[in-house]
Amino acid sequence: MCKNHRNIKKIIQAQLCTGCSTCYSFCPQGCIDIVESGRGIFQPVIDEMKCRNCGICVMVCGNNEFFHQNDFHHTDQRFIGLVRNCYAGYSNCDEIRMNSSSGGLITQLSIFCLENKIVDGVICVDKTAENPARFEARICKTTDQVRTSRKSKYIPVPLNRILKDIVNEREYNRYLFIGLPCHLKGLNNAANFYKTLNEKIILKFGIFCSHTPTIAGTDFLIHQCPTQKRIKDIFYRDQGWKNTFIIQNEAGEVVKYDNYWGKYFGLNFFTPKYCFFCDDLFARECDLSFGDAWLEEYKADKKGVSLIISRSSLGENLLHRSFQADKVSVNNIGIEKIVESQREYYYFKFSMLNDRRNKLLKIRQSGKSYLPISIYNSIMILHAQLSEYRFFILFLKIVPDVFFKGYVKLIRRLLSFFMRKIYQNIAGDKDGHNNCYNF
Ligand SMILES: Cc1cc2nc3c(=O)[nH]c(=O)nc-3n(C[C@H](O)[C@H](O)[C@H](O)COP(=O)(O)OP(=O)(O)OC[C@H]3O[C@@H](n4cnc5c(N)ncnc54)[C@H](O)[C@@H]3O)c2cc1C
Repeated sequence: MCKNHRNIKKIIQAQLCTGCSTCYSFCPQGCIDIVESGRGIFQPVIDEMKCRNCGICVMVCGNNEFFHQNDFHHTDQRFIGLVRNCYAGYSNCDEIRMNSSSGGLITQLSIFCLENKIVDGVICVDKTAENPARFEARICKTTDQVRTSRKSKYIPVPLNRILKDIVNEREYNRYLFIGLPCHLKGLNNAANFYKTLNEKIILKFGIFCSHTPTIAGTDFLIHQCPTQKRIKDIFYRDQGWKNTFIIQNEAGEVVKYDNYWGKYFGLNFFTPKYCFFCDDLFARECDLSFGDAWLEEYKADKKGVSLIISRSSLGENLLHRSFQADKVSVNNIGIEKIVESQREYYYFKFSMLNDRRNKLLKIRQSGKSYLPISIYNSIMILHAQLSEYRFFILFLKIVPDVFFKGYVKLIRRLLSFFMRKIYQNIAGDKDGHNNCYNF
């Protein structure tokens, strides 16, 4: 824990706060509120008059260790976390598979947990009542509710606000928690101190996460899908696992916008600063972690395939039971396949973090950073910083698509050139292939 600071002000000021909202749930004075900030992220606001500097918000904060870490050079194992087994698979129900993010395993296993009374509720995210383009935590107690909250939402969600209700809830006692690495960090920190929380969250599903684009990112995508009528729903993926942003309006009309990830989010436009400090791609702190199977062998699959890292006997058991019940199909794969599927982000999050950290915190480096890493990081940080400005977002809105596509093509070429150099430098592979995992 950060001992010098008795509340999370310094974490907020350093732009390290991910808005997970764990501090909101555990502040004994109730003096923390979570608000949508001008930068398109959720941030705590502390009522200084009420704050007694008890330090609990710092204690439960997922990023509280950050100020004590000088070096992020982990080993591969430390970066990936505990691994029991790895799988590729999907839900055997086509309706679930086609309407989830990739293989529909999270939705299918959540439904299995409810139907078999393994848990009383599933904590996940769904749209808010006021605005279909904003999302909040939901406790699903029926399988229909789980179905409604499926699919990835590439937008910040103050998920851990719900922990306050979970701790105070009397009737229901066993929950499955589904969250991103930053949500899990806050949850696990809090569970170390609050026994009730530890006892109630009996199962945790983690979602692989390269980064979570800001709220401004979603608003930008909505602008790219003009519609005359009020928006009823937004989706970040089409049927199967196609990377298409979709708006459904109240008249039942649908407007689509293709390949937004490749053009904007993948190049770190609309990335919040805190994501540049994160070192957890694979959601280390949970029972089962899930991601997309971006592998050559599944490219032709139109329905969607997910990857799983099973990390505990609980997780392994659940998978085994649902497989026996014919609810899911899973194949054993090696950890190197998981890494291969996330290769670019693996290097970006893992090997390039120290350089980014030094750049963003303006730390003077003792030795020079490897040049391709430094250039790659600078381009990504520049994209993120530019998209914090309204004038730049306006520019993105009016710039002709063909011109922007040209820029994307060029910058992607440049970035892959640097990434190849980085693979060669780190993996020592002349062809730029990744072969550096030491398990
Ligand atoms: C911000 C973000 C970044 C991601 N980055 C990567 C990546 O780099 N590499 C990769 O392989 N996969 C990534 N994923 C995960 C991927 O999109 C799929 O969620 C994953 O493969 C599981 O697929 P599924 O079909 O089993 O999920 P589904 O069955 O559709 O279930 C998805 C679950 O995730 C919950 N959820 C959705 N959005 C959020 C959110 N913002 N915060 C918390 N919970 C949420 C839903 O409520 C639902 O329970 C990311 C997901 C998100 C939300």
